[in-house]
Amino acid sequence: MPDTMRAVVVSRYGGSLEATTRPVPSLEPDEVLVRVRASGLCSTDLHLLSGRQPLGPLPRIIGHELAGDVVETGPRVAKWRPGDRVTAAIDVTCGHCRHCLAGETQRCRSMQRIGFERDGGHADYVAVPAANLVALPDGIAYASAAILPDAVACMYHSLVHQGRVRSGHWVLILGAGGLGIHGVQIARNAGARVLATSRQPERRALAERYGAIAIDAHRGSIGTAVADLTAGEGVDIVVDNIGTRDSVREGLACLRPGGKLLVLAYLDDTFEIPAIPLFKAELEIIGCRGSTRQDLIDVVELTRTGQITPVLGASYPLARIGDAVARLESGDVAGRIWLDRD
Ligand SMILES: [Zn+2]
Ligand SMILES: [Zn+2]
Repeated sequence: MPDTMRAVVVSRYGGSLEATTRPVPSLEPDEVLVRVRASGLCSTDLHLLSGRQPLGPLPRIIGHELAGDVVETGPRVAKWRPGDRVTAAIDVTCGHCRHCLAGETQRCRSMQRIGFERDGGHADYVAVPAANLVALPDGIAYASAAILPDAVACMYHSLVHQGRVRSGHWVLILGAGGLGIHGVQIARNAGARVLATSRQPERRALAERYGAIAIDAHRGSIGTAVADLTAGEGVDIVVDNIGTRDSVREGLACLRPGGKLLVLAYLDDTFEIPAIPLFKAELEIIGCRGSTRQDLIDVVELTRTGQITPVLGASYPLARIGDAVARLESGDVAGRIWLDRD
């Protein structure tokens, strides 16, 4: 085992992400050292760099989606062995609060997240509590597995648990990007009819390939297109992956009475909610935060059986994190960006 490794670090807010040399992490008794083979790059990583989401004491290794191999285990770890292929749930939770006991670990108030409050996976090695690991079947490549904990599991949690999507529903996905394209698949699997918006032709084509009807977000009102496609009814569920005042306003306007707006993003700090439609149509606005380890177990299984296809956009070596960030910021990639290890 080497003493040092490469890692992508936030050392000051508003700076740039760079690969630097850091010590290989040492283990707590209940932790496992994972050699990372691939990690998913998320737009939240940019919020962490800007300081929009504070990380606590800096420097911090970021990266909250990862896949790799177990290389070492702490003395209290019985289940995992070196060589096991794994991915990891993001939230390290207390296990004894009312939310954890109810299986709603995403609501635990004392959680520390991998790649946020504790060091993450944009590195050669990461220390992860054994309780967070999920086994990877051989058929799932590291790159595909590396985007399951957030880009896929978060969408699964939102649509299945928060939205309770079911057969016969109409679902509108605002923003068919790295998350949205998996939302299309999950809603289709549930038997819903799916509309998906994007300004980019490649993303619309991809959404259609996975069974959505794509709407060009450039062209006029999304509300008009949705009304046309649903015979004036509106949709049962809107998934807002954009999180602006405009997207929330547009999303609410597309709902049928009793419909749900699932809010997953927060580009704007506040949203405006029109009071009378909310009241008259009994609309629901539901925040959706992350996913649980069980959600990750579910999406690993759905990936193994081919019901979900993780959609990878472009890969960059860890050392070229700057180029990967520039590509993410350009918004011209369909599917998720991931960091490869050479
Ligand atoms: Zn993320
Ligand atoms: Zn808890």
